[in-house]
Amino acid sequence: MIQRPRGTADILPAEAAKYRYIEQKAREIAALYGFSEIRFPTFESTELFFRGVGDGTDIVQKEMYTFADKEGRSLTLRPEGTASLARAVVENGLYGGNMPLKYYYVINCFRYEVPQSGRSREFTQFGMELYGAPLPAADVSVISAAYRIAEALRIKATVNLNSIGCRNCRPVYLAKLREYYEARRDRLCDTCRERLGVNAMRLLDCKEPECRALAAEAPKISDCLCDECKAHFSATVRGLERAGIRYRIDPNTVRGLDYYTKTVFELIADDGSGAAAVLGGGGRYDGMIGELGGPELGGIGFAVGLSRLALAMPDGEAKEEKPALYVAPMGERAAEEAAVICEKLRSLGIACETDLVGRSLKAQMKYADKSGFGYTAVIGDSELDSGKCVLRSMADGCETETAISDIPDTLVKLLAAE
Ligand code: AMP
Repeated sequence: MIQRPRGTADILPAEAAKYRYIEQKAREIAALYGFSEIRFPTFESTELFFRGVGDGTDIVQKEMYTFADKEGRSLTLRPEGTASLARAVVENGLYGGNMPLKYYYVINCFRYEVPQSGRSREFTQFGMELYGAPLPAADVSVISAAYRIAEALRIKATVNLNSIGCRNCRPVYLAKLREYYEARRDRLCDTCRERLGVNAMRLLDCKEPECRALAAEAPKISDCLCDECKAHFSATVRGLERAGIRYRIDPNTVRGLDYYTKTVFELIADDGSGAAAVLGGGGRYDGMIGELGGPELGGIGFAVGLSRLALAMPDGEAKEEKPALYVAPMGERAAEEAAVICEKLRSLGIACETDLVGRSLKAQMKYADKSGFGYTAVIGDSELDSGKCVLRSMADGCETETAISDIPDTLVKLLAAE
């Protein structure tokens, strides 16, 4: 038997209902903050991710699904959305008009990672990005939107917040950090020793116990921020405070990607553990649009993972809507009429089904019960002759007589009274 590739998932209807619910809530939040949906390709030129994600990152170094197409072009399945969105902004010249730009996206992403709870090789991100808004208020609104998505799903979460400085102050900090770690090189894990020359800040979020101990004592970026970054950070913190967002300042939140400047944050589920607890993350990236050939236009955004939100959501939060009516025919003439009745009901927006299998009446009732229909209507010759039938509630067995032609009105009244 052919099996699905490692790290991918079949999302069966009950789980899909959860994902649909999460997506719907996230879309509602995005609309409340004035963001519009944008869609872009699943694969891009590999070069985009080298430039837009950064060749020092794990994603680019180890995790990309890269392939040559039939013409030998190097293409990559997107590992995230920010680089593609920035490309779309530049390529479509979206920055000429009404600023700031506010977009959201729902995309599948691909990363060659070691699968574990909350970490797969194909996953779905919901992201929001804001361009051309330099004020700390922009950081506050984007972080708030991420937090409100968790809140709308009744997930208790906290924002881990940090500033990693800008082109002016970060080099000073990086030099201090490198010096600190170089002096302790023999205590680092192999990965950190490798990373030290590439991106020293990544050492701060290593999970190895010895590296964690070193990170706790490492120089703090907050002592090196320039005045502008300091002012930006404290205004962001003040904004979050006033918005009632639960946050904690965490000097070791640095994020894995190269493109961030100033604000970085992660949304952490209070009850979660390990990778699955990190519901989402984001930050400000001031240089990316310029890097891709556009103007110097700052951006700030985040992405949350749908599977992690689904794991963190309380059970029963996403209720699937039950179909309203099962029409059970008795006999061939009734079966034909039942099909016509169902088509009519569906045209009026009522979800209904009839027998497609040739089951006995008893078996049909069993099916209707298992499938969670709200009501059933048995239609036989006598119902067709009289033009009347009975709607039976599957919840309490209550019966309501109605003209067949009045089924929609009667059902709507019954459902409204529930
Ligand atoms: P990142 O782009 O790495 O900052 O990821 C942002 C969010 O996407 C994470 O917080 C997760 O919710 C989700 N995510 C990232 N990688 C994976 C993965 N391999 N499997 C599932 N979700 C992921």
